[in-house]
Amino acid sequence: MVKIVDAPAGVEGQGFFATSFDKVIGMARANSLWPLPFATSCCGIEFMATMGANYDLARFGSERMSFSPRQSDLLIVAGTISKKLGPVLKQVYDQMAEPKWVLSVGACASSGGIFDTYSVLQGIDHVIPVDVYVPGCPPRPEQIIEGILKIQELARTESLRRRDSPEYRKMLESYNIQ
Ligand code: SF4
Repeated sequence: MVKIVDAPAGVEGQGFFATSFDKVIGMARANSLWPLPFATSCCGIEFMATMGANYDLARFGSERMSFSPRQSDLLIVAGTISKKLGPVLKQVYDQMAEPKWVLSVGACASSGGIFDTYSVLQGIDHVIPVDVYVPGCPPRPEQIIEGILKIQELARTESLRRRDSPEYRKMLESYNIQ
């Protein structure tokens, strides 16, 4: 039998295995992330390499790209985001169903990068919450994979109540997201 992922922590014995519901949900979420690539420039090319056969993101259950926000749960922002594009990015994030995660790939998405100019957003966390930042200009595919593994870790260990918590609501409200 091929072992695809490790079973969550639990109690096992001959003929039985018991664990908790949140661990099973976390395992399922972490190993079936559907990314929505929001790629605007050079970092997007690195992401394309990450999807290629050499790096093979399918190993982590994330080969299914979704260009429809409603069928994705991992927003990958890779590239320079202009201030004009900020509201579009926010709308895409808004349209994604919970639970959802955001990976900021590269210096431009994370902080504006070398473009400290009037037209470039100085980090996407000015308009949407970010879960993991990947540094680099551009980051190598290995770094992007590392970022996705960190997101998997968050998804795997997240409490099922987190998205309903007052803290989470407050955080969304600080971004003017209902
Ligand atoms: S961080 Fe560097 S490689 Fe990535 S989009 Fe910006 S300029 Fe291009």
